[in-house]
Amino acid sequence: MSSVQQMKPAHARRKIAILGSTGSVGQQTIDLIARAPDAYEVVALTANKNAVKLAEQAKALNAQMAVVADESQYRALKDALAGSNVKAAAGAQAVVEAAQADSDWIMSAIVGAAGLPGTLAAARRGATIAFANKETLVCAGPLMMKLVAECGATLLPVDSEHNAIYQVFDFDHPEGISRLILTASGGPFRSTSREEMAKMSPEQAVKHPVWSMGAKISIDSATLMNKALEVIEAHFLFQMPPEKIDVLVHPQSVIHSMVEYQDGSVLAQLGSPDMRTPIGYCLAWPERMQTPAPRLDLAKLGQLTFENPDPVKFPALRFAKEAMKKGGTAPAMLSAANEVAVQAFLDKRIGFLDIERINETVLSESNVAPLTDLEILAEADGAARARAAELIKP
Ligand code: NDP
Repeated sequence: MSSVQQMKPAHARRKIAILGSTGSVGQQTIDLIARAPDAYEVVALTANKNAVKLAEQAKALNAQMAVVADESQYRALKDALAGSNVKAAAGAQAVVEAAQADSDWIMSAIVGAAGLPGTLAAARRGATIAFANKETLVCAGPLMMKLVAECGATLLPVDSEHNAIYQVFDFDHPEGISRLILTASGGPFRSTSREEMAKMSPEQAVKHPVWSMGAKISIDSATLMNKALEVIEAHFLFQMPPEKIDVLVHPQSVIHSMVEYQDGSVLAQLGSPDMRTPIGYCLAWPERMQTPAPRLDLAKLGQLTFENPDPVKFPALRFAKEAMKKGGTAPAMLSAANEVAVQAFLDKRIGFLDIERINETVLSESNVAPLTDLEILAEADGAARARAAELIKP
């Protein structure tokens, strides 16, 4: 897997860009950077609408450029940056330009398929990409991995599970690997009945028992769609067939994932559930850095527990297997339908279990095409979103 593992030396003063700096991953990245401001030069920060927070971050880090994707927020950004040297820009193309700017390291932390153009642009210029935006790899895995290989880009997985696997995966001898085991916390409804789940509000569903994350990924954790997307992400990222990727529920989220080798050895990466550990791993790579993540005290924890996921309560993992089996545009259509359904649930237009109904319907009806280029991807994405929107109508 040379495309994922290409080595480049760390720079003394790293030029960095953060796509999605106002989100949960973006803010935690800034938390680490702000602790060692002399080590980094911030080239660009981007957000969607949150001009005030973006301007605050850009001024504090003396960034060269701040970009809002939503053009209606340009004036607000400009006003908030008044008196500073930070250049303001707006629009989806400006986000791509931020990704193209001359940075050594770029954090891809926009949520959803909206992260695709910027991540592709970074890959095209052979950048080192800390990769949180899993939807990009789910939607465009083969295109993305081809681009990474052709352009000499480096993908460093930020997702704690993939970051764990990356740390214990023998890239020189992948043939010795028999299985990837992705751990899952089980989300807030692990012990909740289907009847109760049907009545859950967005406020209840976003309350993750272990991790503090953005709204979309929190809902995905409650449906286990997050794990479904992660299985697809691992399939493309580590080039492992679906039958060699398993999911294990581990509510304490201390073991972040494991790699099983053919001699029976299982290698795991452990740590407290704090995203600043995998983000710090990517930020310092190929070295290591201090992070404020709490140290692991296994004696205090006492025990770690494990169980198999319940396929009846949480059908999302089956959707992932089906999407990978169908191949082509199917994972993109599943992910697009899920984005629409999650937003409708957050807006209180549908119930919690409607998310899986919509995802399953769009996936089963999908007319899958081979994923040969971005036009086909855009068409499939549009069709899935339109069908999901129809299914939402009362
Ligand atoms: P958040 O919702 O907290 O933040 C999303 C970021 O993307 C914000 O900066 C937001 O800007 C920006 N954004 C949203 N829509 C658009 C758009 N259309 N165009 C440009 N920018 C946009 O998400 P998270 O930080 O939780 O997650 C980001 C990604 O990382 C997701 O793919 C998620 O699955 C993945 N991830 C997250 C983890 C976590 O702990 N949070 C863990 C592992 C992976 P604004 O603030 O203006 O809305």
